[in-house]
This record gives sequence, structure tokens and C-alpha cells, in this order.
Amino acid sequence: MSPIAAESESNVGPGVYGANVTYLKLSPSKAASWVDCPRRYFLTYVERRRSGQTWAHFSFGNSVHAALREWFELPVDQRTSQAVDVLIRQVWIDSGFRDREQSDQWRVRATDMVSAYVRQLDPTFQPFSTERTLAFKAEHFIMQGRIDRIDLTQGRASVVDYKTGKSIPSPGDVRGSQALAMYALMLQRALGHACLEVSLHHLPSGNQVTWTHTDESLRRHLDRVTQIAQDITLAQDTYESNTPDSNTPDSNTPDSNTPDSNTPDAGDSSQERDLMLDELFPARPSALCGFCDFWSDCAVGQSFTRRKEPWEGLSAQVD
Ligand code: SF4
Repeated sequence: MSPIAAESESNVGPGVYGANVTYLKLSPSKAASWVDCPRRYFLTYVERRRSGQTWAHFSFGNSVHAALREWFELPVDQRTSQAVDVLIRQVWIDSGFRDREQSDQWRVRATDMVSAYVRQLDPTFQPFSTERTLAFKAEHFIMQGRIDRIDLTQGRASVVDYKTGKSIPSPGDVRGSQALAMYALMLQRALGHACLEVSLHHLPSGNQVTWTHTDESLRRHLDRVTQIAQDITLAQDTYESNTPDSNTPDSNTPDSNTPDSNTPDAGDSSQERDLMLDELFPARPSALCGFCDFWSDCAVGQSFTRRKEPWEGLSAQVD
């Protein structure tokens, strides 16, 4: 999954599946947001606030992902080391860096990283697809996500997720990744492929860590996501029923992409509402607060840590 998985969030309601039921639309990143900090989830997906904040580490990661996507679009005879340099320059996102010099330094690092990665590939290798968005319907929710790469070998599909951060993933990380498990289920249910194999490709080190799920281990992941979906639905339904004017996007404006179009009035920021938010969508401070888009709106986060500069997340990338 690319660092920024921008998705339009909406419910799938009557007429789509032929039942008077609305389905919470989830993605792996949305579910993770709820687990990390329900308040951040609320601000992102219920109020749909947009901070306009850009982060250099996202720019770096997204640029690397985009270059790899474009690499597999090239004819085989054009897959050269010079091509990587051209691709990176074409897709480079320079937002969030301290200055031009820092952006240039990290662009060179991205070029080196992608070059080293593609050098160890068979030049004729062609994935089944890249950056493919798939979805499946579970009992109470729709799970949607964008998969970095799908490989297909002898009729068996496998999920590949690129990592650009500093820490090298362990087999436990791959086994425990809810996102990878959801991607495997997307391949099974949306495309009908047998898929139990999931991998993290750690670009800085060249390590590739693979885990082969069983039907049972995927079911356990699905059970956990189902519980998350039920918790979110309960919180959102309670919030909506207690704030009649909330008109939250997740309930009845499927395709609204207008930032703040459903933001509650300023008058809603009453003590009563704050108490309800604390109960339904508690702020859960962590080291991530300094990188949270909503730090300036969140007293809990502010008391926990200072706001990070937009380029400070680069230190978690490769040195
Ligand atoms: S600043 Fe921290 S506690 Fe506040 S919303 Fe963001 S992640 Fe949650």
C-alpha cells in the first residue's frame, strides 16, 4: 500500500446490493486509523476535515511507488537504469521538504533505491497488475484497498506491498499485517484467484519477506476487522443520533468529496458534544501525534508532543 491511500469514502446503500442496508466502507488504512486514534478517525472520515498538510516522507514514499508502477509500464527493452532516473524525475513530489536541496537529495536516494530494486528483477517479469483497487463485501462492511502489486504464478496470485521505511519487516510483521490479509481476501473474492501468499518488499534493504496464510488465519484477520467495523458503526450511529444536524458523509452522501461540506456548525462545539466525542471517539495520543494532520485541532495531541516539521518523518526512511 502506498503511503497515502487516498480513497473516496462512502457507503454502499440500497440499489447497489438490493437491500435496505448501508454498509460501512472501510479500507485497511481507515481501519488502522480507528485503531490508532479514534479522534483522528473522526476528524478524517466523519467530519472530513482537510488540513492541507504535506509531509516529505509521504512525498518520498509515494514517488517511489509511482516510479515502480511506471517501471512495469515500460517495454522490456526500455527498462534500463537510465529509465529509473527519468521515471523518478517525472513522478517526483517535492512537497514537504525543507528546501530544494533536501528534495534533490531525497530524489537521488529514491533513484538509488528503485534502481537497486529493479536490478534484482528479471527484466522480462511482468506483474499481473499494479496499484489495483479492489473491494469485497463482508457481512457488515465493504472493504476496499489499493494493492501495490499482484503477481500471478502458475495460477496462484500473491500480494506484494512495497515498504520504504527504515525498519526491516519480520515474518511476524507480514503474518500480522491486517492490510495484507485484506488484500489477499480481495483477490480471492473480487477476482476469484486462489491467494494465500502475501509479501512485504523492503526497498531500502532489498529484503523480501513472505508469509503464506491459511484460510483459517485469513478468517481470524477478517473477524478482527469485523469487530472494528462494528465498533465504528456503533460510534458513528450514536454520534449521528445525538447530533441531528451532523449529516455525516458516511451515512448518506456517498460521493461527496467536498471538504467540510458536512462539518457540524461551530455551535456544535459545546461541552456536551465534547464529552460525547471523548466517549465515542477518544483521542489516543502516541508518538504519531507530532505527524498528525489534526495536531493543531487536538489539545490532547498538543499536550503530548510538539508538532513535527514536515520533513522530520524522513528520519524514519532510509539513511
Ligand atoms: S494529535 Fe494525536 S491524539 Fe490528537 S487526533 Fe491526532 S493522533 Fe489523535
